[in-house]
Amino acid sequence: MSTNKKPKTGVMIAKIAAGLLFIYVGIAPDPEFDAGARGVSIIIGLAFMAWALLPYFGWKKRRQEVLEEIEKQEQEIREMKAELRNRPRKCPFCGATTKGNVCEYCGSLIPETK
Ligand SMILES: [Zn+2]
Repeated sequence: MSTNKKPKTGVMIAKIAAGLLFIYVGIAPDPEFDAGARGVSIIIGLAFMAWALLPYFGWKKRRQEVLEEIEKQEQEIREMKAELRNRPRKCPFCGATTKGNVCEYCGSLIPETK
């Protein structure tokens, strides 16, 4: 349950199929099974369903968390880039201290510096 891998779809479908089969046996009007056997069958079916679906939802939740973390970091990078763009720089053409890519004084394009 603690893996970050996506659960295999085939395995999940097999578990769901087994779960549905047990649930079907539990609710089908078959005189071979008494109420106790039906109850057990439904419980086993539900257990199969949980076994199939819980790792999948766990994986989806972890994936969502990773995506949100990436989005947050991208936002931080955008803010850092904006800050770098707005920091004062010295114009190599007229020597004035200015902001942004274009000198406010002589209108020259200032080359990106690191
Ligand atoms: Zn300038």
